[in-house]
Parts: sequence; C-alpha cells; structure tokens
Amino acid sequence: MPELPEIEVTRRGILPHIKENTVSGVKIYNPKLRLPISREIIGNLKGQKINSITRVSRYLLFNTNAGTLILHLGMTGHLLIRSKLLTPRKHDHLDMVFKDKIILRFNDVRKFGIILWTVKDPLNHKLLKNIGPDPLTENFSGKYLFQESRSRKVSIKQFIMDNKNVAGVGNIYANESLFICGIHPLTPAGNLSKKNCGKLVTAIKKVLSKAIRNGIKKTDFYPDREWPGYFSQKLKVYQQEGKKCSVCSHTIMRIAIGQRSTFYCKNCQKKPGK
Ligand SMILES: [Zn+2]
Repeated sequence: MPELPEIEVTRRGILPHIKENTVSGVKIYNPKLRLPISREIIGNLKGQKINSITRVSRYLLFNTNAGTLILHLGMTGHLLIRSKLLTPRKHDHLDMVFKDKIILRFNDVRKFGIILWTVKDPLNHKLLKNIGPDPLTENFSGKYLFQESRSRKVSIKQFIMDNKNVAGVGNIYANESLFICGIHPLTPAGNLSKKNCGKLVTAIKKVLSKAIRNGIKKTDFYPDREWPGYFSQKLKVYQQEGKKCSVCSHTIMRIAIGQRSTFYCKNCQKKPGK
C-alpha cells in the first residue's frame, strides 16, 4: 500500500508537469473505484488550470480556481505522466489530458482509490476534516504528542497510526520509529514521558523524510516508463521477524496490535513497567 512517502514522492514527481497546466479533457475508462468516479468531473475539470497539488495525509488535492479534485491512491493506485495518449490497459481508470498533450493517468488494480470533485473547502470535506496534523509539519511536535496522548490507554503504536492524532503514519513507519526510540509498541500512549514524545516525533519525521529522499532518487514518473514500484528500503524491524537486531543482536519479535503486524526488539524496546 502506498504510504505517506510514496504519496509525497508522487506529488513531487507529477507537480512539475502539471502545475500551471490547463486540462483540455478527461477520459474515464472505468469509473469503478471505492467511490465511483462521477462523469461530472469531465465538465468540472475541462479548461481548468491546476494551480497547485497539495497533500493531506494520503490524499492529493489538485487545486483549481473552480474547485478541487481530491484523489486517494487506495491500496494499489498509481499516477503516471505520459507524453502521448496510449490505449488504456487493464486497470487504467482515468486520463487527465493537458493542453500541451501531457497526460496524467490513474491506474488501480484493486480499485480502492478515490477520485472526486468538490467546490467547497476540501479541508472541510468529510474524508479530510478529522485528519490530524501532518507529521512533516511543525504542528506535529513533541509538545503536541505529549498533550494529545495524556490519559490515553491505547498503545502508542495505535495512537500514532490513528489519522485523527497524526496524519498518515503507516505501519512500516510506526514500527521503525518506535524501534529507533527504544519505545515498546504496547506502551500506553498516556505513559510516554515528555522526553520520549519528543524523541518519537523526531524519529517519525526522520524515517518519513528519509523514505521520501530515497523514493525521489529511485522514482521516475516521466517519460513513459513502466509504473514506478512502491519503494522498499532498508528497514530495521519491519518484517524482520526472526532476524538479529542491528543494535543488540537479540531476535526481532512479531506480535499483532490492533490486527496489524508489529515488529520490535524486546531488548532495545522494554515492555512497559519493566
Ligand atoms: Zn535490539
């Protein structure tokens, strides 16, 4: 599943081709997604200039003077720039065609993506309005995490993966960040000290920024390449079950927290209360 770094790399990858570019047409090949694509977006987008592309959690917002296209990649969605209109392949859902013949294509094998149009403030849209601060902004700070987590009994891992608390920290990056800080994933969020809240916030920002940097190096959205894969990177604990911890050589363990696989080193990440 594309996590926050993949979405941010996608945003930065397509932005130079699309910013200030005007949509000359939209072709819908298959409207079936998590929410069906409305045919009205053809008329909504035609003739509109894309002023900017912004990101809220895992959503991309294509901002125009007339309204905003809200797009979510779902589980398997891809956006890619094409320089000529090619016959749509299986799982291609939509093309946005621009005046200079640049094409933005959306492909989604599992159809969990979302493409919709709003003329209202997109930040008040029901999909977006309850999303917490972006982890890469100053609003997500140690002070914020400390304040928000007081008296919360939920595990810190579930807390940081809850979009209402902080936007778009997925399973991979939650696991990696907790390992870096030596915080056991089952620690009740409200038990985290001020100092550890600060350390965890710094770690989350660091792992996400590093993934974005690596992704930019590896990913090419143009010209007419195959779909960029979702990038893998060197991970210290995620899916490293049974392997040796890179710090202390103890074995990496795997448990389920909230039905999500959780990986940790029981030596480096002490259980709460021990
Ligand atoms: Zn260890």
